[in-house]
Amino acid sequence: MSDVSGSELRALMAHVPSVEKLMASVEFAALIGEYGRTQVLSAVREALDTWRAGAQSGDASVSALDVAQLKSSVEAALRQRNESRLRSVFNLTGTVLHTNLGRALLPDEAVQAVMKALTQPANLEFDLGTGKRGDRDDLIDDLICELTGAEAATVVNNNAAAVLLTLSALAPKKEVIVSRGELVEIGGAFRIPDIMSRAGAKLREVGTTNRTHLKDYDEAIGPQTALLMKVHASNYAISGFTKEVGLNEIAPLARARGLAVAVDLGSGTLVDLSQWGLPREPTVRETVEAGADLVTFSGDKLLGGPQAGLIVGRRDLIAKIKKHPLKRALRVGKLTLAALEPVLQLYRAPEKLSERLTTLRLLTRPADDIRLAAERVQPALQRTFGERYAVTAEPMFSQIGSGALPVDVLPSYGLVVRMADGKRGGRQLLALEKMLREMARPVIGRIADDALRLDLRCLEAADEAQLIEQLKGARA
Ligand SMILES: *Cc1c(COP(=O)(O)O)cnc(C)c1O
Repeated sequence: MSDVSGSELRALMAHVPSVEKLMASVEFAALIGEYGRTQVLSAVREALDTWRAGAQSGDASVSALDVAQLKSSVEAALRQRNESRLRSVFNLTGTVLHTNLGRALLPDEAVQAVMKALTQPANLEFDLGTGKRGDRDDLIDDLICELTGAEAATVVNNNAAAVLLTLSALAPKKEVIVSRGELVEIGGAFRIPDIMSRAGAKLREVGTTNRTHLKDYDEAIGPQTALLMKVHASNYAISGFTKEVGLNEIAPLARARGLAVAVDLGSGTLVDLSQWGLPREPTVRETVEAGADLVTFSGDKLLGGPQAGLIVGRRDLIAKIKKHPLKRALRVGKLTLAALEPVLQLYRAPEKLSERLTTLRLLTRPADDIRLAAERVQPALQRTFGERYAVTAEPMFSQIGSGALPVDVLPSYGLVVRMADGKRGGRQLLALEKMLREMARPVIGRIADDALRLDLRCLEAADEAQLIEQLKGARA
């Protein structure tokens, strides 16, 4: 690299206006108005440093400083820096409750409630009847009990917190009996044995991976036993020579021995999903009725609400849980409570639920409806990718996600992109996947079987229009 001569450099540098002058110029007034002086000043300094470094290294593209150019590079830097890192994407993965994409989408009722809670003071912990301090759980526990048939309820940050708190409050230094077939890892580092030790409880494993019998539980009960626990296997299934002991057998055993049973239901649905043709999951109410003393479940899985962990069950046990110091650390904020209440209220009109509850609407969306969307988006995607690729609308299967049945179960439709010449095109397809992911609103699909697959189940009308618009401006 040839350095510019000393005199050339001095000449270039001599033309650089001072930072003060730049900041006072009309070019920068609008930027200062928008971003404030502090940020603009440091961005200007950075841009000048870059220019100087370029001039010194003899970069041929560097000429005398152009203020308009400097302004546009400062503006671009400021815009990029202030862009939110949490971006809206198009979830075309086919997984409706996608943990990495934020799980449940909330209905408008919840959005409105959150907006109010954000901008107006509220009786979060204030009893409007007495004018005294209240309990934030009071805002929601009646509703949860009404929908689950439980005596009492409390809400914490997520289901992992619900399990941690339950074990911490009810089994410190004592044993909790769990079947070896239920010692699951949920992903993102939630593992039952780890949570157990963090909670200060001792895991007492019984049975084997594939078979556990009632007598295994019975024989493990001793003076150290605090709790019997069942964990929903969520994200895996074992088949073949298997035996699991149902709650209907464990609950009477626990009762006879003066112990409680806790069930980590994972997704925890409040309604029988089979009425919409979805796979059957035990409801929270059925679990309570079958004799669970405590049930924990997530707010943002099948329930379709905000991230939260709900704990329902016996009044005395819930009271003990609420008194534990960890409850304070794991409690939910007002935004969560604001969002959860209207979502739960939707369950009071179960006949309207598949229309009103976003998660259920997406899960029950008819494949024919999705097919029509695929046919509408197909031309735009074909145009974007060009003739080297073949974009076709095809049937496919979506997943529920978040541990509710780890298999493809929902007949869906989507766009499949392959090489037009029938070759495999591994690298080209990866490039297309990346291109979609780097769009203004990233499009998240997946590559499988030598094709890029975009499941359109989660692309509802407004998003569909936005996606088509975005594709118009893009070319592969
Ligand atoms: C998902 C799940 C959890 C963790 O719930 P989060 O709300 O993600 O904390 C715990 N247990 C089971 C069985 C689950 O399916």
